[in-house]
Amino acid sequence: MKGRRNQLSLFRLTAHELHDLLVKKEISAQELSESIFSRIGSVEDRIAAYITLTKERAFECARAVDRQIQNGGETSPLSGIPIALKDNICTGGVRTTAASKMLADFIPPYSATVVKKLDATGAVVTGKTNMDEFAMGSSTENSAFFPTKNPWNLERAPGGSSGGSAAAVASGEAVCALGSDTGGSIRQPASFCGVVGMKPTYGAVSRYGVIAYASSFDQVGPITKDVTDCALMLNAICGHDPLDSMSLKSDVPDYTSHLVNGVRGLKIGVPEEYMSTEMDSGVRAAVEKAMAMFGSLGATVDYATLPHSSYALPVYYIIAPAEASSNMARFDGVRYGAGAGDAEDVIDLFIKTRSRGFGPEVKRRIMLGTYALSAGYYDAYYLKAQKVRTLIKEDFDRAFLKFDLLLSPTTPCTAFRFGEKTDDPYQMYLTDVYTAPANLAGIPAITIPCGFAEGMPVGLQLMGRHQGEATLLRAAYTFEQNTDYHKCFPEIG
Ligand code: GLN
Repeated sequence: MKGRRNQLSLFRLTAHELHDLLVKKEISAQELSESIFSRIGSVEDRIAAYITLTKERAFECARAVDRQIQNGGETSPLSGIPIALKDNICTGGVRTTAASKMLADFIPPYSATVVKKLDATGAVVTGKTNMDEFAMGSSTENSAFFPTKNPWNLERAPGGSSGGSAAAVASGEAVCALGSDTGGSIRQPASFCGVVGMKPTYGAVSRYGVIAYASSFDQVGPITKDVTDCALMLNAICGHDPLDSMSLKSDVPDYTSHLVNGVRGLKIGVPEEYMSTEMDSGVRAAVEKAMAMFGSLGATVDYATLPHSSYALPVYYIIAPAEASSNMARFDGVRYGAGAGDAEDVIDLFIKTRSRGFGPEVKRRIMLGTYALSAGYYDAYYLKAQKVRTLIKEDFDRAFLKFDLLLSPTTPCTAFRFGEKTDDPYQMYLTDVYTAPANLAGIPAITIPCGFAEGMPVGLQLMGRHQGEATLLRAAYTFEQNTDYHKCFPEIG
């Protein structure tokens, strides 16, 4: 192949760049997979992004794409593109663990709808990525197996819960990835690892076959190197699915048609409540620079108000554990989870299976959630939180009467060191302060790289109206076309 000279660095390229090389036959899908797996071979011992690799399947799939291209068959923009999947997304015949001991040997009998959709495009699945157990956490330190390292600094966490997916994309161990976002789990790790991550509108992407955490928040979405790849992934994974009862019925637009370089006339609001909370000075500086940049590109940038912001985290951390406590009930050693072999009776089976199978954070969430839902406290906590959730959603509705999108930091800090926040769960929960509100309101939000603070990437969050992905993509694309942050690639030491 003509492109052999490129092969060593193919892992640095985006899906759309690689697609061009594939259709011009400058590279083959097999060579592309070889590049990614050789990159995995050279850095995975330090990054630890993957729980399971699916190398054999990947090469089979890549060869099938090559045959298709040789025969002049139709290709899609993701044909032959190596993509990693968070390990809470079921893959038929391939171990899916949710990074829990409970599911250490679980091999799902079927694939999630998103996996089937990616398969249909000819995407090549590289493997299953590490995460916080059952997606509960913000650093990947809650994985029952091992923590993932941040490619920008191996002493720091990649964020979470989709830390493996974000680290894989940032380090070139996958071209794109899927994560899931319940309170920030796509955007926070994407921001910590200097890549693009989007939580689509609630219901835009099917969750059939995705292991549930908190069902009124969970959304699957892409983690990519740039905004164009994000749009391509959305094209592939969005759409109605009768198997997910919350799936939206609307048609899927061609998201790439919104990759327009121009924000003239766009009204951008910056929630003043967010900017008046404590955040790292480097994060604040990068975000203020981004605000000025949007202004200089012709958008109007003004302060917005979301008066109930300070309740977002408490509300999230009541409702999410409540839903989690219910979703975790199925892991009892009978329906799911390998049952304790030494159980004396059925109650003992439940106790032993759950005591051994769940890690400390999952147990904490089950206890918090069960407490909030218990007869004596339901009204005081769960019901109250649901009411405040509505007020928070109404704050956004009002803000979007005035603004086309809202801009904020993705997180108040950059990637923190291992162990820095594990002793105090509250400190860990605080990192979701800017991301959880979009989940409470069900609206789409994207993070894009907007600078560095002390050598670590800073993420800029844009939040849009319900089903307003197009506006987010346009603004994010424009920012990207006028900056170079998305082109920075970590040197892995
Ligand atoms: N950090 C949040 C939590 O622990 C969000 C996790 C997520 O989005 N899956 O619940």
